[in-house]
Amino acid sequence: MSPEAPRATPRGPVDATRVPRYGGPPTFARLPRLDEVSRADVTVVGLPFDTGVSYRPGARFGPGHIRAASKLLRPYNPALSTAPFGTQQVADAGDLGLNPFDITEALATTEAGLRGLAEDGSTLLALGGDHTLALPALRALASQHGPLAVVHFDAHLDTWDTYFGAPYTHGTPFRRASEEGLVDLERSVHLGTRGPLYSEQDLEDDALLGFSVIRADDYETDGTARAVERMRRRLEGAPVYVSVDIDVLDPAHAPGTGTPEAGGLTSRELLHTLRGLVGANVVGADIVEVAPAYDHAEITGIAAAHVAYEILSVLALNSAAARS
Ligand code: MN
Ligand code: MN
Repeated sequence: MSPEAPRATPRGPVDATRVPRYGGPPTFARLPRLDEVSRADVTVVGLPFDTGVSYRPGARFGPGHIRAASKLLRPYNPALSTAPFGTQQVADAGDLGLNPFDITEALATTEAGLRGLAEDGSTLLALGGDHTLALPALRALASQHGPLAVVHFDAHLDTWDTYFGAPYTHGTPFRRASEEGLVDLERSVHLGTRGPLYSEQDLEDDALLGFSVIRADDYETDGTARAVERMRRRLEGAPVYVSVDIDVLDPAHAPGTGTPEAGGLTSRELLHTLRGLVGANVVGADIVEVAPAYDHAEITGIAAAHVAYEILSVLALNSAAARS
């Protein structure tokens, strides 16, 4: 769109003064479906798939759970002084139909589906599903933007080689992505890493694949502001892909996930860090590993919905800055 072209007023969520927030459509944040708007600046899409998990299954039900919890979101974000649904059109494309019995086919379907949704320049926010899906997302977006600075929030490195001989699992997407040249080796970072590894070699391999590490413990010793500063310095001007494994949060803040690790971030620390992406060139994002069967009182779903909301707020501010 040229800068002079008039922008239509975005269609926002159902008005909560007319339909209470616990009612209304089952789309993310009660936003319009993609087929109800002419074009979306940001497309939310569900990826119900968990055939790549190594411990507890259940993330295939994540997209619906995050959408259900997202009904509580309100239109104005005071932390960033922005209305994420008011200055950009956000719409929900529903779920992709992913083969639960064939990982390779599911990855191909995801890549093709995301490529199609991003074709017109729409920014993608994918709701998983397990972390295997970050690989086809990176394939789709790197074909458009070149190698991406991956901002990876996770208790785990997800740069293992294989598991039981399988190359495509939720513990391996970033090794495959790095091998395929999809990752900017100077600009990528893990945040929130912690917990036991298989061996010290895991960390040595990981460093070679292009990631720097901001550990969960660094939040404790250096504080959140320092983590944000390190993250921002790492990214510089690169196109950024944000991948949020909800297990980056402590199990107290996100019990509903497949591979929990004690000693994680609080939801406050995660949301604050995400706000540090204002001004970064975010071209896509995912929120994965929400497994509702292990959730209690919607704790994990609510955390994931707020993570999505902060990312959408960052995108709203960044696109407004790009237009001005
Ligand atoms: Mn993880
Ligand atoms: Mn992960």
